[in-house]
Amino acid sequence: MSSARPDDLAPSTLVVSAGRPPRTQGGALNPPVVLSSTNVSQGVPGAGELLYGRMDTQAWHPFEEALGRLEGSAHPALVFGSGMASIAAAFSLVPDGGRLVLPRHAYQVTIGYAVDLADRHGVDVELVDIDDTAAVVAALPGTSMLWVESPTNPMLEVADLPVLVAAAHAAGALVGVDNTFATPLVQRPFEHGADIVVHSVTKYLAGHSDVVLGAALADDDALHAALHAYRTLHGSIAGPFEVWLALRGLRTLALRVERAQATAVELAARLASHPVVAQVRHPSLPTDPGHDRATRLMDGYGSIIGLRPRGGAAAADAVVAALELWVPATSLGGVESSLERRRRFATESRTVPDDLLRLSVGIEDVEDLWTDLDRALRAGAHL
Ligand SMILES: *Cc1c(COP(=O)(O)O)cnc(C)c1O
Repeated sequence: MSSARPDDLAPSTLVVSAGRPPRTQGGALNPPVVLSSTNVSQGVPGAGELLYGRMDTQAWHPFEEALGRLEGSAHPALVFGSGMASIAAAFSLVPDGGRLVLPRHAYQVTIGYAVDLADRHGVDVELVDIDDTAAVVAALPGTSMLWVESPTNPMLEVADLPVLVAAAHAAGALVGVDNTFATPLVQRPFEHGADIVVHSVTKYLAGHSDVVLGAALADDDALHAALHAYRTLHGSIAGPFEVWLALRGLRTLALRVERAQATAVELAARLASHPVVAQVRHPSLPTDPGHDRATRLMDGYGSIIGLRPRGGAAAADAVVAALELWVPATSLGGVESSLERRRRFATESRTVPDDLLRLSVGIEDVEDLWTDLDRALRAGAHL
């Protein structure tokens, strides 16, 4: 299953072609859903032999191979039951009493997990502004793991990944990257030397808001083995149907990302000059603090937009309530455009503005999306 690197196929080809069954006359084009909790086996098991469904199963391999090749990893990905399960596996590499540095605006449940590690395992957790390279580097001495999200959720800060990876390695720290927002079509952290990459497959990779799933990848043999062992020991595994659906969703990832990004660029530009908009964050905007870095490091700007309507949190809630096409919901990365005011969650970071709406741009017609958004902004926000 291990993939050659560098891959000679473009990512937009890999999403379609990787993880297919061998070509045999009359054989199925697509991999099957494999429903089997155990495998035929007797005697002393050989290396890598399939034995039991919690350890490894054919049901995961096509998706794992495809994602491994997309991220340019020396190993196939490891699927997990959720994005958080894959993050837990990555964080298991931080020893008790170790030090974990992570973005102040990382996914809020990631921060919650780090706080739990601090409380119960004596881990020294420090939150940093991941776009402030000097501040991150200053936090690195004694660090076991630097965690990176870029762009961050929901503030859309862009990290200088190659510089941070080099500095973290010089300080003896592992670097883990949550690549959920960018997807491997837009950013491949292993190219910048990252040690671990995780995904909430729930979002763009599966892409249809019908699956909760995660994945973790490591280039290094020992790290890959450690993540695999964690999955087996904790049983944080994925079901065959979910993984099959994720592979099916992955087949259109390039088209979806291309379309959603183009629409996000257009909407961000229009929002930037809208009379009832106080602030827009999208790295595509020339005035955005992350613009130059994103242009240099990413193959696109992603399709999440941060939006602060005039009139504060009440106005933001009124905008959400007035929308008819955009779906009010948490999560992101589906074919449908959705949004939410992040601070409606008591657990969201207090440094996220109370009135910030996080928009996940889908693949609907750009003019329909704009008409709905413009109307709701005028109805809900205040001049
Ligand atoms: C949703 C999300 C997660 C968590 O993934 P689940 O699949 O919900 O467990 C982690 N990181 C980011 C950036 C996310 O958006």
